[in-house]
Amino acid sequence: MKAYVVRGPSQGATEHVAEPVAGPGEAVAVVERVGLCGTDRELFEGAMLELHQGQDAYPLRLGHEWVGRVESTGPGVGPEWLGRRVTGDCMIGCGHCGLCRRGAHYVCPDRLEVGVRGRDGALAERLVLPVSSLIAVPEELTAAAGAMIEPGGNAWRAVDAAQASPSGNVLIWGAGTIGLLCVMFAKAAGSEVEVVARRQASAEAAERAGADRIWQPDEVPRAGGANWNGYSAVIEASGAASAPGRCAMSVEPGGRLVLIGVAGQASLIDTRHLVTNDITAIGILGGSLGLRPALAAYGSRDVIPDSLVSQVISLDQVSQAFAAVTGQPKPGAPKVQVNPSL
Ligand SMILES: [Zn+2]
Ligand SMILES: [Zn+2]
Repeated sequence: MKAYVVRGPSQGATEHVAEPVAGPGEAVAVVERVGLCGTDRELFEGAMLELHQGQDAYPLRLGHEWVGRVESTGPGVGPEWLGRRVTGDCMIGCGHCGLCRRGAHYVCPDRLEVGVRGRDGALAERLVLPVSSLIAVPEELTAAAGAMIEPGGNAWRAVDAAQASPSGNVLIWGAGTIGLLCVMFAKAAGSEVEVVARRQASAEAAERAGADRIWQPDEVPRAGGANWNGYSAVIEASGAASAPGRCAMSVEPGGRLVLIGVAGQASLIDTRHLVTNDITAIGILGGSLGLRPALAAYGSRDVIPDSLVSQVISLDQVSQAFAAVTGQPKPGAPKVQVNPSL
């Protein structure tokens, strides 16, 4: 079958590779659609921390935001899985450590991550996964939305951590895919939503996603100003190293600071401000616990993520897409998806 293989920094191409075979408890799915994201690009370029720390190594088979259909199953898998439309939790824990036993498999130190480390990803015609990590996807859902369940899971968790509600006002710092999905989930929760977006196209996309107000980074009001206590929650989704510290200054006393962006260097937060204002700071890694809620929100059409997809390309165009995004990010509709059968 065809698969996109990265052999070294910025060296990726479509190759013919062995067909995956389902082992005990596993299923092989035909990939219908797969999204590219910042994590994929960092792995492609060789910038990802894990590569430098030796937890990850080339060759890499990327792709962790996908939807597909089960084509074959291994021993011990029930017949109901055959033909089922599915997506998967890309975090696969060891299954027996304390973290896995209490349902936090996504932070298991021995976990494998589909398309990131230890398991081949979905940028291929087929992929193999344990059925325990598969989630059924309704036939009515578009392929675009199906491949947005994974980033949706991340955004859902950030908005859940922000406790977005009709009585809250949430500021979302950054209007990439995750930031825009956070806008949609926070609006669906009934919250007032403001967004920090530098570029015009990103600002317009945030407005289309439902944002009530757009700010330039240097205009964002600080908490405790003239008769204004601050935002009930601020979600940092830009990945700028200076943003977390700045975000903290706009959270109201007793509010929440949610961090989902990852910067290329360490960020500083004045923890005195957190302590003296009773602010809760929360980090979010991965969408595992948000996959089902995100899928439910797409299914009920409370959140419709399709407008965030700008392009659907073939496996042969993936390297080009990474290079294009690196040179000139496409604000507004930031998500590029791949159809491996093109
Ligand atoms: Zn991703
Ligand atoms: Zn574990």
